[in-house]
Amino acid sequence: MEAGSRVLWRRYLALLFLILLPFCSALSSRSARDAEEAPTTSYAGAQLLRVNASTPEQKDAIRRLEESGDVDLWSGIVSHKKTVDVMVKSDKVQDVKQKLRKIRAEYAIVINNLQDAIQKENPVLSEAEMLLLEGRKGHRMTWHSYHRVSDMHGYMDFLAQTYPRLCSVMTIGSSVEGRPLKVLKISPAGSTGKKAIWIDGGIHAREWISPASVSFALKELVENHDMHFNGKESTLGSLDWYFLPIANPDGYEHSHSQDRLWRKNRHDAHKGSCAGTDLNRNFGYRWGGAGSSRDPCREIYAGRNAFSEPETAAISNFVKSKGQSVKAYITFHSYGQYILYPWGYDRKVPPDYRDLNSVGQKIAQAIRSVGGGSYTVGSSAATLYPASGGSDDWAKGSARIKYTYTIELRDTGRYGFILPAEYIIPSGNEALAALKVVGEAASQEP
Ligand SMILES: [Zn+2]
Repeated sequence: MEAGSRVLWRRYLALLFLILLPFCSALSSRSARDAEEAPTTSYAGAQLLRVNASTPEQKDAIRRLEESGDVDLWSGIVSHKKTVDVMVKSDKVQDVKQKLRKIRAEYAIVINNLQDAIQKENPVLSEAEMLLLEGRKGHRMTWHSYHRVSDMHGYMDFLAQTYPRLCSVMTIGSSVEGRPLKVLKISPAGSTGKKAIWIDGGIHAREWISPASVSFALKELVENHDMHFNGKESTLGSLDWYFLPIANPDGYEHSHSQDRLWRKNRHDAHKGSCAGTDLNRNFGYRWGGAGSSRDPCREIYAGRNAFSEPETAAISNFVKSKGQSVKAYITFHSYGQYILYPWGYDRKVPPDYRDLNSVGQKIAQAIRSVGGGSYTVGSSAATLYPASGGSDDWAKGSARIKYTYTIELRDTGRYGFILPAEYIIPSGNEALAALKVVGEAASQEP
């Protein structure tokens, strides 16, 4: 080859390289992102079983299966309920079914392959569609899919910028991994020093419907504030509303990127499967009692001591700083469709349980009247099972907040934690209906 044509060839190759470079980097960055997106814990072949366990012996046997790590309890063992939902990983399926036959416990397969359900649960928009949406609306949130922390926090900032006279954003602390605990304050009447209501979601990472529904409710209250706060009879506008939609941002992100069924926070994450504290066993009222564990490997690990976790400490410090102005405390979980009031540590009830029960019944009614599901009302431990160190017990027992509820959102077990995204709006409407009932009761407190 002549020197002249060699130079020409080199130029061609350089040009070709320059043209292809953006495609190559786009491809490599997309595959990097995909790798990050795809949860590394696979639930291929894992099953959700509904086990008929009516006798105390059968219930004990299932408790032992949970303690030995053979099954993960999804529904808890409820004394007056005949069935228990248990999740079994693929390598234990045959063994667990054999053990169930041995104790003569019949079972039905509710979800045949958990990984399939996980893949169908959350249709997400492509980055291009997302950018289009962001350009049009000014934020990335939809209520047609489950969004990441950054989208939800971005939406809260968007609301504060768009409605500066109605709401503001504050960071009340940060998580173990340093993510902000972002609170949106809605203050319809403008001035401060009013009665207040606290609402949180996502304490348990895998309960995705909770942050989705809480963010739906706050969207409604802000973007349609005229409708919700300025009704003739409504007293909702007299309150300050504090929303913490994602109380466990590290766990929530982990449940998106690594393990869909992660529940706890990410304390001691380097310890792998025994990482994390159950934030809803870490609050400082009757901490460490029944229904919690000192074993870091358990899903109900209560932590080293009460408020050992920055997430729970931030919530308690913030709520306490509002003194006696806080009249209601509502924390959203899933699943089961329950409206629960204290106590959780014991089957006893607080002296004013009749007030709590009657407002609880009104919540259930309001949910039905917006076309929602059927919710069961009662005290935590008596309706479900004892669990100590919950945020609701602390809110009632230590912070002395009158209307304290844990609301277990949809569903009743068809999908459990893997509730498809199409249920976000119906569930969000239920959460909103509940908040309006509790808000009215709170605003009438002395
Ligand atoms: Zn929960």
